[in-house]
Amino acid sequence: MMNKSISVSIDHLDAGIAMKIAIAGLGPAGSYLGALLADKHQVDIYEGQEKDRFTSICAWATAEGGARQLLKQIGVNFEDYILHKGKKMYISAFNEIFSIDAPELVTFDKPRMIHDVADGLNVHFDTFVRQGELDDKYDLVIDATGPYRKVLGPVQTGRDMILPTFQWLVKYKELPFDDFYIEPFSNFTGYLWYFPLGDHDAFVGAGDILKHHRAKVEDFLKRYPPAEKVRTMGKPIRVAAPSSVTPHRREKVIGVGEAIGTVYPILGEGILPSMFAAKLLSENLDDAMRYSKSIKKKFSAYDLSYDYILRKINHKDNFFNSFPAAVRIFIWFKRNFMITGVNPSLWQTLKVLRPRRKG
Ligand SMILES: Cc1cc2nc3c(=O)[nH]c(=O)nc-3n(C[C@H](O)[C@H](O)[C@H](O)COP(=O)(O)OP(=O)(O)OC[C@H]3O[C@@H](n4cnc5c(N)ncnc54)[C@H](O)[C@@H]3O)c2cc1C
Repeated sequence: MMNKSISVSIDHLDAGIAMKIAIAGLGPAGSYLGALLADKHQVDIYEGQEKDRFTSICAWATAEGGARQLLKQIGVNFEDYILHKGKKMYISAFNEIFSIDAPELVTFDKPRMIHDVADGLNVHFDTFVRQGELDDKYDLVIDATGPYRKVLGPVQTGRDMILPTFQWLVKYKELPFDDFYIEPFSNFTGYLWYFPLGDHDAFVGAGDILKHHRAKVEDFLKRYPPAEKVRTMGKPIRVAAPSSVTPHRREKVIGVGEAIGTVYPILGEGILPSMFAAKLLSENLDDAMRYSKSIKKKFSAYDLSYDYILRKINHKDNFFNSFPAAVRIFIWFKRNFMITGVNPSLWQTLKVLRPRRKG
């Protein structure tokens, strides 16, 4: 491989020349990007966790069709990692439980998949990257550190939003639900999830901007006591959309994945979107401005969803601003169920997204 160091502006790099690229973070974004780039470039991935204890604090749900397509491009068979195949998702809202179609929704062994995606790549485990420390050694430094943006630095829009989360891995004798189950909190400050993992295991977790997430999870586990509570975990999740999570770049550092807001705000789904962002970066590696523009364009529906949530949280939603947005969100769901995994009807979408009742 030609290994010529580049010192020109990264606005217009020659994508044909091999570069030295550092990626901080071995999540879906960093691992997938590494796999896409490793043929052409010299790639080093730095991951803060130890190799033997590597995991991914996440509920491990994604859409089978979308994941299959993306992973096929790097020779990985998504089917091998599936733990539970969904048919529906139960939603508990406004004192009733109903189900929506979830034909593509699955849970999968995310850490094992990431491990296999990164197989053969040059990964430095147990190495936390700090801002600036890699800049002199590489032509490009990629921040794929998720909510932390440890290399890129803080969001400067004043519109970032990060929720705390808490989750139990539990084992049931008798599963309380045969499929996915969620409880959105009033005014969309977050939601609780119960996601089956096959073999009577499940993740029961919640994220809430009002910080009632732990209490909500413990309350669920009192209502549906598991045979065994295995372990707890938690990590922040960014739900702000890419236009609100800028800059996407600082000098030779470029962000990808959750670091730049590629999590669908209503669902908190960030696995596939972060891999899509990695693909966009691999295609626009020679032009950081074009990359940022293409991210904003591809994820413009995330802005709509984020604005919707902000109005709910700030009690500024009413019929006139909620209804048209809810219809647009429904149309987006219809077109993208291979990415979200869920396929609600218009009526079901409006039922969940309806404006807050006054009083
Ligand atoms: C509790 C919870 C449940 C979730 N459930 C789902 C779900 O079911 N489905 C879904 O689609 N999304 C879910 N998400 C969101 C999803 O996990 C993320 O959006 C997605 O993994 C983002 O991918 P990423 O590669 O950008 O970042 P991450 O997955 O966050 O990966 C970042 C990596 O960087 C490493 N790192 C951090 N700082 C440094 C540093 N300074 N140096 C080196 N390495 C560093 C971390 O250890 C980590 O391995 C959930 C999130 C949480 C918190």
